Amino acid sequence: MSFPFPSSGKASSSKDTTRNEHEEPSKHAPGVVLDKDGKPCRTCTSSAAWMAMMKSSPGKKLTPAAPVAQPPSDFPPDVEELGRSTWTMLHSMAATYPTTAPPETQSIMKQFISTFSKLYPCWHCAEDFRGWMAKPENEPKVQGQDELGLWMCQAHNAVNVKLGKSEFDCSLWKQRWKDGW
Ligand SMILES: Cc1cc2nc3c(=O)[nH]c(=O)nc-3n(C[C@H](O)[C@H](O)[C@H](O)COP(=O)(O)OP(=O)(O)OC[C@H]3O[C@@H](n4cnc5c(N)ncnc54)[C@H](O)[C@@H]3O)c2cc1C
Repeated sequence: MSFPFPSSGKASSSKDTTRNEHEEPSKHAPGVVLDKDGKPCRTCTSSAAWMAMMKSSPGKKLTPAAPVAQPPSDFPPDVEELGRSTWTMLHSMAATYPTTAPPETQSIMKQFISTFSKLYPCWHCAEDFRGWMAKPENEPKVQGQDELGLWMCQAHNAVNVKLGKSEFDCSLWKQRWKDGW
């Protein structure tokens, strides 16, 4: 199995202080998160931290000649670009979900959310997301578009809060992702 994170709860969150295979070693720039194989995890790390690591690594291949604020636009996604793209897809899925979903569609959506939370390419994001969903009050609400859209907004807000960002007003999720302002 080559997933960057285990399906059980073995990996610790990036917030954990206990050392394990995911912990950032001192040879890497602050903010660089490692995969299970010990290599830096691009999709778990911000571009700023990544570029700082590139500048400070001995034997680096992509050493910039001058300070670089942004990686090239055709670089693999960092944790932020991956997140923005993923939220766009998830909110758009909610916006096109049936008003009242038949049981089979509800079951498919539940399965999708569960699978998504195990395969999301940022392992520590996925782990925290599964932890949030495991609370009974945060179970996916898939009965229909309104319920799913609100749940998705709350899930996104949980990440916003974790990252110290302001919460989105969930009464406006449809304007943002379906109808326009
Ligand atoms: C499941 C998941 C878990 C993640 N966990 C982490 C993590 O642990 N650490 C980490 O660094 N990054 C994580 N991310 C990425 C993070 O959520 C952001 O996508 C990333 O930081 C870029 O943020 P942003 O400010 O550009 O806007 P984003 O948060 O990506 O939001 C994109 C747009 O969505 C709208 N929006 C914002 N909040 C809401 C909401 N609640 N409901 C509806 N619309 C909204 C706004 O218009 C915003 O511009 C995660 C992403 C996902 C999908």
